[in-house]
Amino acid sequence: MAALLLLPSSGTGQELDRIRALSVDSLTAPVPTYFSPGLEAEAGTYAEIVARLNSVLFDSLGVSIEPVVAVLAPNDWSVFPTAPGMVPGVVGLDSGRYLVRVPVPTATMSAAYREAEPYLPAARLAELRAAGLSYSDAVASATEAILYHELGHIYALEMGIGIEPRWFAEFIASYIGYSGLVQVSEQDRIVWDAIMDARAAAPGPSPGTIAGFDGFLGSEGILWYQGHFAELVRELRPELGFDFVRDVQRIHTSRYDPDDLMARLGEISPRFITWADSLGR
Ligand SMILES: [Zn+2]
Repeated sequence: MAALLLLPSSGTGQELDRIRALSVDSLTAPVPTYFSPGLEAEAGTYAEIVARLNSVLFDSLGVSIEPVVAVLAPNDWSVFPTAPGMVPGVVGLDSGRYLVRVPVPTATMSAAYREAEPYLPAARLAELRAAGLSYSDAVASATEAILYHELGHIYALEMGIGIEPRWFAEFIASYIGYSGLVQVSEQDRIVWDAIMDARAAAPGPSPGTIAGFDGFLGSEGILWYQGHFAELVRELRPELGFDFVRDVQRIHTSRYDPDDLMARLGEISPRFITWADSLGR
């Protein structure tokens, strides 16, 4: 989730050319989607999520993007110059167009969520069961749930919201994605809340401070932070709604001072300050 957020590229669309050169199959609807052999069902599922979320976010934020989805098996990821991704990520193609990369399978990511099962809060387990799901089912659906977060990154980028500090880029991606998610799929919402809360409750980095986030490259540290970002999103969203995203667009451009950003966020909601102070204690 965190490690594979890439800057919008120079707009050459090279990534798309490389995928096309694989001669993999594709879908044209509901969004253009390329997929490796045997992954048509997954491709259809992910394309549907992307299309539905994109529609909700367009209605809510008035920002128009054209997503392209690539659902690729590990051997096909070699078309990218970057390390093969084990989690979804996004790549800017050119103005308003983004590639959503979805690796299959997501073994490393699944393991990190599976390990957190002992820490799953009882209320989240009850919610899963009421929906006819086990925690294993939730882990198996983690890719679907995380797609909402990835689309959140795209919208933040397209709205000119800076990608630093990294903690805030991850927070705002989850804020935007989750705000759409709750309108799109109750089942995906339940899955997201379960895996995020399990990771937040599992042991985390020490000290788990906001300032320390950029130093964490291990997936477990990142997922612990993501879990805590998700908690704050859930707390703030009912009160602030999509207006918060527009407020952030006004205050947070590419040039920023971290302390100044936190002070400005604190003016929007004092909860940012108390949450940051309590994180990791
Ligand atoms: Zn992310």
